[in-house]
Amino acid sequence: MSEKYYRDSIVEVDLEAVHHNYQAIRELHPDKMFIAVIKANAYGLGSTAVAEYLSARGAEFFAVATLDEAIELRMHGIKEKILVLGPINPEDINKAIQHRVAITAPNLAWLREAQSNVMDMDDKEVWIHIKVNSGMNRLGTSDPEEIAQMIDVIEGSDHLVYEGIYSHFSSADIDSGQNAREYDRFKAITSKVRKPRFVHIQNSAGALRLDDGYCNAIRVGISLYGYYPSDYIREISSVDLRPSVALTTKVVDVHVLESGEGVSYGLEYDAEAGDRVATLPIGYADGFLRARTGYRVALADGTSCPVIGKVCMDYIMTKVPDGVQAGEKVHVIIRDRSSEQSMEAYSSYADTIPYESLCMLSRRLPRIYEGEDAAPVNNEVLK
Ligand SMILES: *Cc1c(COP(=O)(O)O)cnc(C)c1O
Repeated sequence: MSEKYYRDSIVEVDLEAVHHNYQAIRELHPDKMFIAVIKANAYGLGSTAVAEYLSARGAEFFAVATLDEAIELRMHGIKEKILVLGPINPEDINKAIQHRVAITAPNLAWLREAQSNVMDMDDKEVWIHIKVNSGMNRLGTSDPEEIAQMIDVIEGSDHLVYEGIYSHFSSADIDSGQNAREYDRFKAITSKVRKPRFVHIQNSAGALRLDDGYCNAIRVGISLYGYYPSDYIREISSVDLRPSVALTTKVVDVHVLESGEGVSYGLEYDAEAGDRVATLPIGYADGFLRARTGYRVALADGTSCPVIGKVCMDYIMTKVPDGVQAGEKVHVIIRDRSSEQSMEAYSSYADTIPYESLCMLSRRLPRIYEGEDAAPVNNEVLK
């Protein structure tokens, strides 16, 4: 982790907000294991920083998408339980054993192959979570017979431990009966087999909308970071989530234009005499999509200014009032759900959702952390 950076376009992450969201959702499910989903670099916030902050405050269990992500956390000293949600290559099972991570078994064939690859290491174990397909048709099996055979394979091995059974909702953020149907299917399938220590299906939306004792763990990603999975969930949820991410930059150059001049590639913006144009050092390589021409960033006093002309790889230009100078701070994303620069507004402007906007904040943007005892800065580029 490098604490240096030399360009003033930064992602500001409020880890205390993440902790607030963690506690607020835990209060809804006080008896369930909270599995904090920190895949994809904790949705762009920084998985090591989030894991360190939450584990110091009692978090016991994390989930990631890939074995590489799990090993990254182990290499940074994260000791808590980690579940890999995606099926790893069966031949890599010894890596999972070596790093003491729990893995997902999507079907019997995968499990048999993985099991046959286990090297006979003394008292080394790997925790298996069986994946049930309850309707999404992405991963897992819906056949209770197959699941029973998978449990037999696990129990028949000295190295495998049957630790979990779980599924994933396809439509938990939507106002429809589909969620209840998938939940019923999950219960019907899993009640036909022996249950392990952890039974789980709720993602953020499921955790915010369902209060039910059948499961004993929840897997929460987006809401940990302060965003509702959808407007529908925000409307029906009583939990007050705190947005954790801000994106700021600073003006690096200013031009005053004459009538007939243009701005950016193709000169598609037609200037009026006296237009003051501020150049901001952030572009699509940082995750500021080309679709965001016209999006309004905000000056320190709240004045909002439109992005004009094409978004470049490393820059955007914005039309600003008189007086704005190089060095002035500009807010691209603000931690206020009602503002024109909210994560929600930033996302919908480019026809996307906070999940995708967060993941697209690229490694070129240093992460600056706020929160008690938080590591202050992580600049991946100078790592
Ligand atoms: C990403 C993911 C989650 C977390 O979903 P959120 O909507 O971000 O809470 C949970 N479970 C699985 C299997 C996932 O892939």
